[in-house]
Amino acid sequence: MTTIDATLARRVNRGSGENAYKCYQCKKCSTGCPVAGFGDLHPAQIMRAVQIGAVEAAVDSRFIWLCTGCETCTTRCPQSIDIAAIMDELRMIAREEGRVRSDVPFANILKLNYDSFRRWGRLYEVELLAIDKVTRPSGFTDDVAMGIRMFLKGKINPLPTIGDRSQMKRMVQVADRINRDKRAIVRAMDLPADADMASSGRGGAS
Ligand code: SF4
Ligand code: SF4
Repeated sequence: MTTIDATLARRVNRGSGENAYKCYQCKKCSTGCPVAGFGDLHPAQIMRAVQIGAVEAAVDSRFIWLCTGCETCTTRCPQSIDIAAIMDELRMIAREEGRVRSDVPFANILKLNYDSFRRWGRLYEVELLAIDKVTRPSGFTDDVAMGIRMFLKGKINPLPTIGDRSQMKRMVQVADRINRDKRAIVRAMDLPADADMASSGRGGAS
């Protein structure tokens, strides 16, 4: 018999507003997901892990870092669950708890993307990739060889294109503040009884 711990589902609910217990495991999210075949789990399995409170399976999963946020799963879900928002929330939890996987390139690149926008107002790919190679050197030779080929074909601009940095700075400050306030509210909210959370979904975990 599966033991259910609703702590993770409650936390996901606080951050994303989504109730994982509405999921009845039809797997429409997984069959439409463009990266479902590349991870350790697929979206429906992540949903099940959240339902039963399997933190290691959900938060430590490689899959949450492969998710591109395309929202195909969200569009297909017959229960109208915003699964993409749940993936976002699981990544937030992973960052807050220092559980970001070091062996998944996308986890590192997401942060570098954000830093690059802050610095230049636009994405500066060469710098981003160089930092990624220094901080996560696996596949170094192959990636550098590909980078040189792309440069020779004119696919990579070695110089940054400067965007509107002051506007980007303001946007980032607003986004950071909203996120900080939201996380503070999430932490401060009272926790409802486990039974309330589980019984409010129609699918439920079994
Ligand atoms: S999240 Fe939605 S689409 Fe995915 S298995 Fe559950 S009910 Fe089906
Ligand atoms: S948002 Fe993520 S989980 Fe959903 S379909 Fe896209 S890649 Fe898959």
